[in-house]
Amino acid sequence: PIEPWYIGGPVIKGFGRGSKVLGIPTANISAKNFSTELSEHPSGVYFGWAKLSTRGVYKMVMSIGWNPYFNNTEKTIEPWLLHDFDEDFYGEELHLAIVGYIRPEANFSSLESLIEKIHEDRKIAEAALVLPLYSKYKDDKYLRSPA
Ligand code: ADP
Ligand code: MG
Repeated sequence: PIEPWYIGGPVIKGFGRGSKVLGIPTANISAKNFSTELSEHPSGVYFGWAKLSTRGVYKMVMSIGWNPYFNNTEKTIEPWLLHDFDEDFYGEELHLAIVGYIRPEANFSSLESLIEKIHEDRKIAEAALVLPLYSKYKDDKYLRSPA
């Protein structure tokens, strides 16, 4: 059986590389409050559901780790919400129900191969999240708005 895990917080500013360098925006949340969760789950690429407080619940594919291609020194949590938004949503409350693991973190010899891999990850996430096994967590209570 699947054991989802949960993290969340306000969307914070990262290095701004997602959209600008990769064409792939990632809504970063702070890793500081989740050292336990992060120590229990390996770095890598995950998928699941993302609730943006004022907007809705969306599919997401997410990197957790040090982004070896960019040589980061701090672990980042970076979900890409699989939806087209008209505007940024920095500061908004984002809740994540993480239901599956795709692969460990990897380095890439070129930006193109990194981008290609992320799109492969997205396709895997899109396909998995329509399966009943994973789709049911769209209604997870962690993603419900407070009454
Ligand atoms: P940063 O390094 O500040 O995270 P990014 O280049 O990764 O910058 O862009 C992320 C920002 O883009 C998010 O914080 C959010 O406000 C916005 N954004 C727009 N569309 C999306 C999306 N589909 N998924 C994630 N973030 C998005
Ligand atoms: Mg980002």
